[in-house]
Amino acid sequence: MKALYPGSFDPITNGHIDIIKQACELFEVVVIGITKNPKKKTMFSLLERARLIRESITEDDTLRIANTDVVSYAGLTVDHANFIDANILIRGLRAISDFETEFQMALYNRKLGSGINTAFLIPDETRVYLSSSSVKEIVAMGGIVDQFVPKCVAKALNGRKAQ
Ligand code: ADP
Repeated sequence: MKALYPGSFDPITNGHIDIIKQACELFEVVVIGITKNPKKKTMFSLLERARLIRESITEDDTLRIANTDVVSYAGLTVDHANFIDANILIRGLRAISDFETEFQMALYNRKLGSGINTAFLIPDETRVYLSSSSVKEIVAMGGIVDQFVPKCVAKALNGRKAQ
């Protein structure tokens, strides 16, 4: 079964990596789909985000690189899922606060995508509080985020700070 894990990944954090690892255990192929969230202004370009995801996957020895792929797309996630023949969408659930919008989105996607379902995965409790936006805020205030993101992402964020 092929799964599509859509998101902004601006940038990828250890929380996303946790979900990717779990998805790789469950599905034969996991496609990480970088998409534009109209509600979010991004720090990294699509190309940079794709590079950081690929590097993060490569630098993690415990991740099964063989069954992952990274793509970016515009438009509806369900259209891209159909285009690549993915049978299921993956989303991460951190807290009850994620639930309402994720639940609504999953139902829209099922309607729009001719029945495509969403599987929700929960990260390890040590990563449940992580988000790309909080990591960016910490960096903007001069904090160190090495423990929250893959090595290559910490380097990219520090590079941004220096600019
Ligand atoms: P989006 O703009 O689509 O929400 P994000 O990159 O913020 O993009 O999140 C993509 C997906 O990854 C979402 O399902 C989100 O809930 C999940 N996610 C983000 N951070 C974590 C985390 N720390 N633990 C589990 N899931 C997470």
